[in-house]
Amino acid sequence: MYAVTNPATGETVREYQSATDDEIEFALETLHNGYKADRQSTPSERAGALLKAAELLRDKSAELAGVITREMGKRNSDAVNEVEIVAQIFEYYGSKGPDMLQEQPIEDSDQDDVVQYRPTGVILGVMPWNYPMYQLARLIAPNLVLGNTLLIKPASSTPESAYALADVLAEAGLGSDVVQILLIDAGHIGGVVRDPRISGVSLTGSEAAGASVASIAGEQLKKVVLELGGSDPLIVLDEENIEDIADLAVRTRMENMGQACNSPKRFIVMEEAYAPFVAAAKRILETDYEPGDPQDPATTLAPLSSASAVEAISEHVDRAVAQGATLVTGGKRLDRPGNYYAPTLLTDVAPSSDAYHEELFGPVVVVHSVNSDEEAIEVANDSPYGLGGAVFGGDPERAEAVGEGLEVGMVSINMPGGTAAELPFGGVKRSGNGRELGRLGITEFANQRLFRR
Ligand code: NDP
Repeated sequence: MYAVTNPATGETVREYQSATDDEIEFALETLHNGYKADRQSTPSERAGALLKAAELLRDKSAELAGVITREMGKRNSDAVNEVEIVAQIFEYYGSKGPDMLQEQPIEDSDQDDVVQYRPTGVILGVMPWNYPMYQLARLIAPNLVLGNTLLIKPASSTPESAYALADVLAEAGLGSDVVQILLIDAGHIGGVVRDPRISGVSLTGSEAAGASVASIAGEQLKKVVLELGGSDPLIVLDEENIEDIADLAVRTRMENMGQACNSPKRFIVMEEAYAPFVAAAKRILETDYEPGDPQDPATTLAPLSSASAVEAISEHVDRAVAQGATLVTGGKRLDRPGNYYAPTLLTDVAPSSDAYHEELFGPVVVVHSVNSDEEAIEVANDSPYGLGGAVFGGDPERAEAVGEGLEVGMVSINMPGGTAAELPFGGVKRSGNGRELGRLGITEFANQRLFRR
């Protein structure tokens, strides 16, 4: 069952029936035919509609952001930013995609040998709720230029963001023959993955969902891209500009109320900077976040996406404290309707506690103290996850050397991690495999075909 529940009030706004077997069959057949037709056109011919989509997304930004905020609760300003990056993604692959897919000569061959990038078929996207348009866009835009077609299963709490995006794409000429949203029950995804018309699967979400989908795809020998959890380290090497760094670090952590896979979830701070960092983080968390209606531009503390999300973060924090962590601030649900949780700061999270290794998907800052660069790297890598990592330090060479030591898919020096249309996104270890966006992303579901003339 798909249902839209307003996270700010707890009210169920609307329920949707899940897709029937006949609807799934019809979508697969339409998209398979769409793929066969698309193979007759070139990336340049397909690109125009993406540029048109970018234009429409910007025109309708306020309306689209309103849909996102209503169903997943993020601050309206965060939703407006999300729509803008979605527009940037469509614009980027509309303008640069065809060049990125030019055939590449094989160096060292004395013949006219090239690698071509050709589509492979219908790609299934299993999508989460935390960025209910951006996550779809980063799969859809590069694949549409490539010539693949897409069947998208949105999270059961965010169907309307997916529908709203699909409406804009249809208006731009990217209709149901190339991209479809279908409210498929998670339990029925296995059957879709097994369908011979599906050539690959991309999933963003939990490890459990990733493992389930990947094992079925594995049996079927199908390509899978997984973007799963993360517990990104943000390392601070010295006291230089500590107030500014703490400010930037905490604000980045609080974006989307901490519900981002690449949110910096562990701050690893050199002993000399630890006390001022913790003091600044505490002050910011206690003074800068006022709960309110997320549609109101003045609101700085939005609700979490669902009742289960607030229960999960509450349980994680309570368990961390029971296992010895110090609760510096927060640590409780707010006494008001909706899924509000106080901005929280934990220190003394010991390696023996669950919170040291788990992903905390909410507004919770964890700060560790370390005594050397080696220890900072060791703590950063002492995690099942390997999505991103950031290093801040007055000496850029030293910061780069620490960054070099990180076992993650994305490293940022003297800036927090982030995303942009042209940057490949993805991780190692239990954060998943494969990449989305950038040159790496656009070829994940391509047939990288050797062509000899
Ligand atoms: P899920 O992994 O359950 O949901 C993500 C998507 O996967 C949804 O579309 C969901 O469908 C689908 N799904 C779930 N189980 C299966 C399955 N067995 N087979 C096929 N599809 C499945 O995430 P949650 O919403 O439960 O969040 C739990 C945790 O996952 C978070 O706390 C966070 O750690 C992580 N997460 C990471 C995200 C990221 O950006 N990397 C995004 C969201 C979550 P349905 O909604 O219908 O259940």
